[in-house]
Amino acid sequence: MNTNLRALIAGAGVAGLTAARAFHNLGWDVDLVERRNDLDVVPTGLFIPANGMRAFAALDSAAALISQGQEIDRLGMRATGGSSTHAPLSAVWPDVGPSIAINRLSAQRTLLEVCPVTVQWGKGVQEVSQQGKRVTVTMSDGARTGYDLVIGADGVNSAVRLQTWPGTVAQYAGDYWWRGVVACPPSLESWDTCLCDAGIFVAMPIGAGLAYWATGCFSLQQLDDPSDGRAERVRRLFGDADGPHAEILAQVKDDSRVQFSAASKVLVEQPAQGRVVLLGDAAHAIGPSMAQGASMAAEDVQVLTQELVQAGDVDEALTRYAARRKPRTRYVHETTEMRNRLALNPPPDPTPLVREWPRLSVQSFAALVPAP
Ligand SMILES: Cc1cc2nc3c(=O)[nH]c(=O)nc-3n(C[C@H](O)[C@H](O)[C@H](O)COP(=O)(O)OP(=O)(O)OC[C@H]3O[C@@H](n4cnc5c(N)ncnc54)[C@H](O)[C@@H]3O)c2cc1C
Repeated sequence: MNTNLRALIAGAGVAGLTAARAFHNLGWDVDLVERRNDLDVVPTGLFIPANGMRAFAALDSAAALISQGQEIDRLGMRATGGSSTHAPLSAVWPDVGPSIAINRLSAQRTLLEVCPVTVQWGKGVQEVSQQGKRVTVTMSDGARTGYDLVIGADGVNSAVRLQTWPGTVAQYAGDYWWRGVVACPPSLESWDTCLCDAGIFVAMPIGAGLAYWATGCFSLQQLDDPSDGRAERVRRLFGDADGPHAEILAQVKDDSRVQFSAASKVLVEQPAQGRVVLLGDAAHAIGPSMAQGASMAAEDVQVLTQELVQAGDVDEALTRYAARRKPRTRYVHETTEMRNRLALNPPPDPTPLVREWPRLSVQSFAALVPAP
């Protein structure tokens, strides 16, 4: 394929940084713009299941991520004061490879370090228009530039998507979350969920003596939680947590170190139109119950670059990319919605759910075990 081509990538999150490196390695001339002035500062974590790590491995980024994170070998589940169980990840992801948990900032820094393209910070995409095989982009600083391909990796509220697929406004997904990073209690050895009265409390070690925690509520009513008093509200809401979760909760004291977000969802089933293509949350954001956000983004990049190498031309590659991604991204959306419905109406006695957890975990992810 002719590699004398120019691409713009909007967004320096997991999807954009991964895509920038992959496109650079294919010989494209890449501009990478990021609306923010720097990486996010409130520390949170990221669980990257084995299918995501397999995609990062195919893109040569897995070793760098593994060196900064912690391998996770099981998904634990327990009811407060009650029974507990776990699903071994070797059974959930047979022969796929390791799953890791990592400080989100470390993950972004790692992807930034291995990215040979310089990020243009503080520059956002505002307008996108196509004429034939040329896409003209207007940036927040007023500059207008033409590209052979524009890649929207600009997250759930993607300007690239809204310009090219008008009306695809993201919706509230049905769950909202508080998250943070604290010192890891010695008894927290792997990914562990505690079912509390208010919702679910997930925690996992992320290496360097730290743990990532996330407390989630499922509700039809969207909540916005202001920063003031946030830590205390989390402690009160999830005060019935026990074990390592109670030790984590006791450390949640600083409002400025608790991130709150309501999950949003959007699904563009044909994420390529002309010479504009979407990756990651811009194409298929959903709540985090399956923790597939970074994995789906990495798979997007893997499949898109495979198709660019194999196809006769860019247009054919984009068509094939969209067709290959549709079943998996739709599956993640549908399965997440199903899990959310269950969490919205939890059974009064969680014991059967806890007992069934290993089987449900294997079942939820089985469709993602084959390579994308
Ligand atoms: C509570 C919660 C917990 C989660 N936990 C996990 C987890 O454990 N594992 C996991 O894999 N996923 C998790 N996710 C999902 C994950 O965070 C996302 O799927 C992932 O970050 C998507 O990466 P992205 O690069 O597509 O988008 P983003 O990370 O949102 O990056 C998009 C970037 O584009 C920039 N941008 C926006 N607009 C413009 C513009 N107009 N021009 C230029 N740049 C722009 C943004 O500033 C941002 O830096 C979680 C999500 C939530 C809400």
